[in-house]
Amino acid sequence: MITFDKVNKWYGSYHALDNVSAHVAKGEVVVVCGPSGSGKSTLIRTVNRLEEIQEGTIVFDGQNIYAPKIDMNHFRSRVGFVFQSFNLFPHLSVADNIAMAPINVLKTKRSDARKRALELLERVGLATKADAYPGQLSGGQQQRVAIARALAMDPPAMLFDEPTSALDPEMVGEVLQVMKQLARDGMTMICVTHEMGFAREVADRVWFMDKGALIETGTPEQFFVSPQSDRARKFLSDLR
Ligand code: ATP
Ligand code: MG
Repeated sequence: MITFDKVNKWYGSYHALDNVSAHVAKGEVVVVCGPSGSGKSTLIRTVNRLEEIQEGTIVFDGQNIYAPKIDMNHFRSRVGFVFQSFNLFPHLSVADNIAMAPINVLKTKRSDARKRALELLERVGLATKADAYPGQLSGGQQQRVAIARALAMDPPAMLFDEPTSALDPEMVGEVLQVMKQLARDGMTMICVTHEMGFAREVADRVWFMDKGALIETGTPEQFFVSPQSDRARKFLSDLR
């Protein structure tokens, strides 16, 4: 579903992604972890070209996303991306936030887009909030709306960049719950998160990054029980 092949990226002279090669199979859940500044956000942002790479290739859902002829706007709208900050449109209702991209980009009929928005709200446990405005919702609720909004484009995969780290602790669980359900439903996911409980429980693979390089790509069992590198061992012991 997603393949990184010898991906290199520099910010000026700083080598931010160091020869990263890895594959995410359809339906697989990958949790990316590593110290601050190790390149986790940079890596997943290359998948929809929020960050450009200088060397290597990335294939997403059968398409080389660095091919010269690709329709970037259409492509980008198809990659479900959920950030730390939810960035909902404050002047639109929750349902309109979710229906907007399908209407504008996929040319979905307004009534169909509304119907689908209501289904997605049901799925993230917010069926009663369709006509509320983002400012009337808690952070956890807003993040669940952001997930529903990404799902509205029927993305082949979902990318998460620390979706719970801006939330008050009591709201983290409800967002992780929605992500767990998505994983169970077979969504392909790459999640950058510090929630190691989620990684243990939900991930098929854990990717550990350090200094721009992908150091380990094991199962949660392998990674948490017998990490191979000193850097991963240090990272794990610092968490405890
Ligand atoms: P965190 O856990 O703090 O979110 P991260 O693993 O996501 O860290 P990145 O944000 O990918 O790390 O950053 C990797 C490195 O690249 C860091 O050293 C960062 O300072 C640098 N970097 C990121 N974005 C830019 C930029 N736009 N220009 C220059 N350097 C950048
Ligand atoms: Mg980051």
